[in-house]
Amino acid sequence: MTNDEIPGRRRFLQQSLLAPAGLAIASTSHVVLGRDGITVGTEPEELAHDLTTDVDVVVVGGGTAGTIAAIQAGRAGARTLLLERSGQLGGMTTVGGVCYPGLFDAWGKQIIAGIGWELVRESVELDGGSLPEFAKVPSRHWQNQVTVNQFVYSILAEEKCVDAGVEIAYHEFIREATATQAGWELNCAGFGTNRLVRCKQIIDCTGGAEVVGLLGFERMREDEIQPGSYLFQLGGTHEVGRKQLHQIYVHGADSTNSRTVTEAKLAGRKLVLKKLRDAKGEKRLMHLQPEPGFRESYRIVGETMITVNDYTGGRVFDDAVCHAFYPVDLHTRTGVKPKPLKPGIVPTIPLRALIPKGSRNLMVAGRSVSSDRLANSGLRVQAPCMAMGQAAAATAVLAARANTTPLAVPLSDIHGLLSEHGAIIPGRA
Ligand SMILES: Cc1cc2nc3c(=O)[nH]c(=O)nc-3n(C[C@H](O)[C@H](O)[C@H](O)COP(=O)(O)OP(=O)(O)OC[C@H]3O[C@@H](n4cnc5c(N)ncnc54)[C@H](O)[C@@H]3O)c2cc1C
Repeated sequence: MTNDEIPGRRRFLQQSLLAPAGLAIASTSHVVLGRDGITVGTEPEELAHDLTTDVDVVVVGGGTAGTIAAIQAGRAGARTLLLERSGQLGGMTTVGGVCYPGLFDAWGKQIIAGIGWELVRESVELDGGSLPEFAKVPSRHWQNQVTVNQFVYSILAEEKCVDAGVEIAYHEFIREATATQAGWELNCAGFGTNRLVRCKQIIDCTGGAEVVGLLGFERMREDEIQPGSYLFQLGGTHEVGRKQLHQIYVHGADSTNSRTVTEAKLAGRKLVLKKLRDAKGEKRLMHLQPEPGFRESYRIVGETMITVNDYTGGRVFDDAVCHAFYPVDLHTRTGVKPKPLKPGIVPTIPLRALIPKGSRNLMVAGRSVSSDRLANSGLRVQAPCMAMGQAAAATAVLAARANTTPLAVPLSDIHGLLSEHGAIIPGRA
């Protein structure tokens, strides 16, 4: 059988095994001729680069949760690869323009700290901004959100990943995943890159549990989802890191795949263009985010599920790994009427809500946490997403070290590692 006759996957594996880890194989190219016989370029016969990467933890998605997960895993000594489909870190916080993470406080004190807070605080300091005073309880919860400069945030996040020894792989995603004795074997792709990854643990921080879906574990999503929003600035001055951008609802915005995301982009940008035309030359378009914001997508069916009663009742789960705090906040066609939590209530997030039911060596962090729709409308905000990222990573690192699966890691060890890295543990602070 010639190389050309080897079916795709076997051929890929064969090439990867030939390539020492981290080494690119020079491809053989042949010349492409134009109609008139003039050379117009070369076409690779094989993929331009093949490499094999062996790590402990793969974080998929370098967004709000995934960035923090990767930093935590790297700082705890795990060999960590971060796959991010776009070209920068921060996800909704930066690419979506939702650069006002909340909520790190509840009822007069800080309830979420650790790596997410470090990144937010340092972004604000580097940008000469100001932080809310958590000792003061605001009249509306959201008033204590922190406004960050999205550009500063993403490059600082990148520096922290690199300093923690994380290998960042932009424009890469998993095409195929196979369970192995030791964890996972992943076939990852980016343009000009075809990479074989062997890892012990995966943390899916894609926002829509994409890896969980790829692996065939159960996910849920209602037929109707909350609208997305496109963020932009029409008129005035774009005060990055100081003021929130304008938002326009994009109904039906669906982050499931490239086709639905394209539809949401076209619809959102069309609405912005209409706003500009309606301004009849009196206002200029000062800013437009590259991506729309998606509020809702798939959530996992986890080992446990957080219900809205758990959330609004402030249930302290036996295996709580972090807090959350935000009103129940479901956007509909007619807008949103946030339902604030009752005084003193601070919800918690259990470890089992981060573990897809029946899985091994796999966790999620971020808005795809196992929860019903109403609970999710509050849990999805950024500070809890960051705290989940840190908690999932601490668990994954300990599981990788002990060659076991996240559910088998002693909770006290997870709490210990999280405390070492500045996180606040429910019931301890
Ligand atoms: C319009 C809007 C307003 C909001 N308002 C607030 C607010 O006021 N305060 C607040 O705190 N929160 C707010 N939120 C909620 C919050 O921003 C999000 O729920 C949260 O940021 C989600 O974090 P995440 O890490 O789960 O996902 P994301 O931040 O979306 O990160 C997912 C990352 O994964 C990457 N990715 C996806 N699929 C793949 C793949 N297959 N391979 C590799 N990479 C992949 C994406 O490119 C992205 O970087 C708002 C959200 C929206 C949309």
